[in-house]
Amino acid sequence: MLTALPTRSHSDHPAARKTVEYELPQWNQALPQATACTTRHAWARVPAEPAPAERQRLKNRIRTELAKRNAVMVSHFYVHPDLQDLAEETGGIVSDSLEMARFGRDHAAQTLVVSGVRFMGETAKILSPEKTVLMPDQDATCSLDLGCPAADFSAFCDLHPDRTVVVYANTSAEVKARADWVVTSSCALEVVAALKEAGHKILWAPDRHLGRYIQEQTGADMLLWNGACIVHDEFKAFELQALMQEHPGARLLAHPESSAEIVAMAHAVGSTSAIIQAAKTLDAQEFIVATDNGLLHKLRQLLPHKRFMEAPTAGSSATCKSCAHCPWMAMNGLADVLRVLETGDNAVHVPADLVKRARLPIDRMLGFTAALKAQGRHAAASLVPRLVPHLGAA
Ligand code: SF4
Repeated sequence: MLTALPTRSHSDHPAARKTVEYELPQWNQALPQATACTTRHAWARVPAEPAPAERQRLKNRIRTELAKRNAVMVSHFYVHPDLQDLAEETGGIVSDSLEMARFGRDHAAQTLVVSGVRFMGETAKILSPEKTVLMPDQDATCSLDLGCPAADFSAFCDLHPDRTVVVYANTSAEVKARADWVVTSSCALEVVAALKEAGHKILWAPDRHLGRYIQEQTGADMLLWNGACIVHDEFKAFELQALMQEHPGARLLAHPESSAEIVAMAHAVGSTSAIIQAAKTLDAQEFIVATDNGLLHKLRQLLPHKRFMEAPTAGSSATCKSCAHCPWMAMNGLADVLRVLETGDNAVHVPADLVKRARLPIDRMLGFTAALKAQGRHAAASLVPRLVPHLGAA
């Protein structure tokens, strides 16, 4: 079923429209967990690449507007290099979703321009409801978010009241509000390990690959939702093996949203920030990177003497999702950043009661990770009973 593409009357630049296939987990009460999926279609529109002179003009005007409006850019590693560079050049940040959340909450600017996908803008608004949060394109979604509808997920949770609900940040505000904990890929392992130590059984959503990886690493009792990221799900083990044989000195860096076969072959597995760290510290000159190719921009910037290659997918001629670049991250462009700054369009709104409920599990994550950074794993783990007092140990 094709989702209708809304008319875009406010844009003054052309955008290529793509149909994007994703999986919707099928769940019913007779099954202990969501095991099957149906194929669904969504859409994405990718703004045209501006010509060099226009690009420069847009960048200059964005700089002026940011200063005029007390605004700061918060960009994800997977968005266009222009939006990554401009964020850093103007005092903003390019980072993974955990750091984006922290930075937006702690920065003094009154307006945050979040370049990424919708859940990132929502998280920024939940953590800073008093600030204006603008997104270049609010229709930029995520297959993990689409694959975890709040009503289905809530019914699933209701069937398992003995489990602590841990959801990945790539979910709607409604799903977060149903959770006990929100995690990102940079802290999920530590949070689940600490919950396991405290005697909790876990209900995990939505990414099945990340859930399985954490289950294997921690030995925790985890019931998994069956969602997947359309980008990481597409890396191909057979082709990857061939590439590794061609480059025997290369090290494979994989995001844990990739399939079990890819993760098993990797020399380092982790979030985008962990991948950057591994590229810095591993003693190799060549790397194959199994995550969205937007990250290669930052890797090449930071480590120009090293070589980075994309892990193979079925290729962009196969389907839109096989190009190793998220079609929804690609919806963010310079022209829209300028437009939303000038007009105030695309301000993120989250109802106050939802902000209150969704904030609690996000704050737990931020409290946990702050303790982890400052005092280490043991101190962070000891916080768990205090951070989830109503649950106690299962
Ligand atoms: S890369 Fe995957 S997980 Fe990230 S926003 Fe795109 S679909 Fe979602």
